[in-house]
Amino acid sequence: MKRVLSGIQSSGKLTIGNYIGALQNYVKLQETHECFFSIVDLHAITVPQNPEDLKEQTESVAALYFAAGVDPNKSSVFVQSHVPAHAELGWIMTTLAYMGEFERMTQFKDKSGKQESVGVGLFTYPGLMAADILLYNADLVPVGDDQKQHLELTRDLANRFNQRYGEYLKVPEPYIPEVGARIMSLDDGSNKMSKSSPNPNSFIAMLDEPDVLRKKIKRATTDSGREVLFDPVNKPEVSNLMTIYSYCSALSIKEIEQQYEGQGYGPFKKDLAEHVVATFEPIQQRYKEIRASGELHKYLQQGAERAAEVANETLKEIKQRMGFLMPL
Ligand code: ATP
Ligand code: MG
Repeated sequence: MKRVLSGIQSSGKLTIGNYIGALQNYVKLQETHECFFSIVDLHAITVPQNPEDLKEQTESVAALYFAAGVDPNKSSVFVQSHVPAHAELGWIMTTLAYMGEFERMTQFKDKSGKQESVGVGLFTYPGLMAADILLYNADLVPVGDDQKQHLELTRDLANRFNQRYGEYLKVPEPYIPEVGARIMSLDDGSNKMSKSSPNPNSFIAMLDEPDVLRKKIKRATTDSGREVLFDPVNKPEVSNLMTIYSYCSALSIKEIEQQYEGQGYGPFKKDLAEHVVATFEPIQQRYKEIRASGELHKYLQQGAERAAEVANETLKEIKQRMGFLMPL
């Protein structure tokens, strides 16, 4: 069985971008693959996190995995910091990487541009991400379009390791959805939607109350025209809303264009809001049940045990090949 590894940072509330770009694929892939899904809290602290919020967000992301349909009996779901091998291989991977490789990363450029003093962790982020993936010798990594570049670097690091220390690490492939790989922000069609945005009106959170969802979609930026047409270059905001509509309604883009011909943006946005509400309502219901059940930590412990078994073995082999003196 081929192996899958992916993760989401506990850096805020999951958005519809995280759902369409990544999480919904987790649910599909677990039927045919051996899956490891992580809540990557060590990545989340690459930007400052309030301790209470970090804990809550980590639990919330984990509960949303299960609420969205990740099955703890099919997939190993774990918190990254519960498996210390991630931090250890993360360090090793940064020593294999070159400054220029990290400097080219657009995520680093985007995120560091918004801050006065830039944390080193934001810079070395791709080294830790490479470790996350390579520890499991993953074949496939379901991610959104924004993580393609980091995955390319992971592949380079795996190949570099294999050249220096002998063929051992699996060179992973990205698994990116055809539709919805880059959901854009509600207030700016040139920025990707991000859960850590300081403006909550820029994202649709999976746990937003129905009325909040309706309000955010009503307020979403559109252009000054009135035609519901898919044209990402000239109408990026409307096209983004159409992508979300298509995913949540299972209607094709063509069908949506036909349905709203000559009607303007009002009815389109109103119906879109109802489709989004209908998509998230059952997930929100299950989320509440999971958080109330007290089962979450049991699932996470079970996931961490399975993950650590695989990760520790890989780390040991890597260290042996690199010439570390192994303890007796
Ligand atoms: P942050 O702002 O803290 O970076 P984020 O929303 O970008 O949060 P991540 O935890 O960095 O979320 O990424 C989790 C997964 O969601 C990754 O696979 C990423 O590619 C995917 N993803 C993130 N944003 C989007 C988006 N706007 N559209 C599609 N996929 C996305
Ligand atoms: Mg991100």
